[in-house]
Amino acid sequence: MAQTAAPVPAAAPAPPPLPRSIRRGPPITVNCRCGEQRRLQYGERWRCESCGRSWSTLQIPLESYAQLRAVQLRHRRAPMAISVLSLLCIVAGVLLHRALGGLIIVAIVLSTWSMFFRPLYLRRHRTALGELPTWTLTPESEFQTEAASPPR
Ligand SMILES: [Zn+2]
Repeated sequence: MAQTAAPVPAAAPAPPPLPRSIRRGPPITVNCRCGEQRRLQYGERWRCESCGRSWSTLQIPLESYAQLRAVQLRHRRAPMAISVLSLLCIVAGVLLHRALGGLIIVAIVLSTWSMFFRPLYLRRHRTALGELPTWTLTPESEFQTEAASPPR
């Protein structure tokens, strides 16, 4: 009975569906070794048009990417709260027939936010993003090339 020398690779199992919060996360910038660059969502694959290397963002651990997404969401809370507060002030002003008063309060709140708190907030956000890990991906096509090349 003849046996094949090279084992036939088993078909990769279908990956489980990604959580919605991950699918809508920030894009990942992939730099190809030839210099091309592409921004991909988590879970996307990209075949470089210049050199043919194939990159998959699924090499990034899901927990690690979820950490990035959590930092992004955490730093959206204050701007959202300011927006909701501003809208409530305008609605309250209109309902109380003091629209001008509501607008003045909104103007004061937004000025205070942008002058004093936003720079601190942005600095903290940049620091938090800088503390996150970066990832080095391996092109998938190299794996396939190495696996397909005969032993020397
Ligand atoms: Zn390339």
